[in-house]
Amino acid sequence: MAVTQSLDEVSASSDVDVVVVGAGFAGMYMLYRLRQAGFSAQVIEAAGDVGGTWYWNRYPGARCDIPTTDYTFSFDPELERAWTWSEKYATQPEILRYAQFVADRYDLRRDIRFNTRVTAAHWDARANRWRLITDSGLQLSCHFYVMASGCLSQPKAPEIGRDWRDLTKNGHPAVECPFLLTRCGLEL
Ligand SMILES: Cc1cc2nc3c(=O)[nH]c(=O)nc-3n(C[C@H](O)[C@H](O)[C@H](O)COP(=O)(O)OP(=O)(O)OC[C@H]3O[C@@H](n4cnc5c(N)ncnc54)[C@H](O)[C@@H]3O)c2cc1C
Repeated sequence: MAVTQSLDEVSASSDVDVVVVGAGFAGMYMLYRLRQAGFSAQVIEAAGDVGGTWYWNRYPGARCDIPTTDYTFSFDPELERAWTWSEKYATQPEILRYAQFVADRYDLRRDIRFNTRVTAAHWDARANRWRLITDSGLQLSCHFYVMASGCLSQPKAPEIGRDWRDLTKNGHPAVECPFLLTRCGLEL
């Protein structure tokens, strides 16, 4: 959806202490800690669920390249006892299930707005607040604005002379990479 409002028009229609961008592992943990510290928080996530990297990247063979026991939240011993990995280097579906398990266990989703992308953020010095615009029309105002948006969450389309997204089913190259399902070659 196109952004039709200017930043100046954004009002505090949804006002929280902290807005976090991204519901990958970093954003999920941030939300958990913010709640513990007594802050009101809203996480904004472009994807349809938690998991970040492991939500988006579903190509065949995707898995963790470090032992998954090292890829596990360690903030709660009970959580560590409640989850057992089936493999030393877990696959993407299992890591995504783990993220969903954590979200369920701590009821994280109630403070996460999915399918929503932050498109602009503006610091309002007079009000001492951030004012945010999203592609869904949701407007937010917050005192602290935390980017947990990941360092690898933006696909880099190969420059192959045509739109890479035409070759995928849903417009996100990493979700379903057709080149991994077939033989292909690139002429450079
Ligand atoms: C294919 C792949 C494999 C990887 N494998 C490993 C591995 O084996 N071991 C390892 O240690 N690390 C691995 N990584 C690195 C991985 O990115 C990190 O380990 C970790 O998952 C990053 O978590 P994060 O929460 O910081 O970011 P992410 O998981 O990237 O989550 C960021 C989230 O922010 C959302 N977002 C971004 N911008 C906006 C916006 N403007 N509005 C709303 N939402 C937004 C995105 O949709 C995304 O869901 C891998 C990365 C990739 C891409």
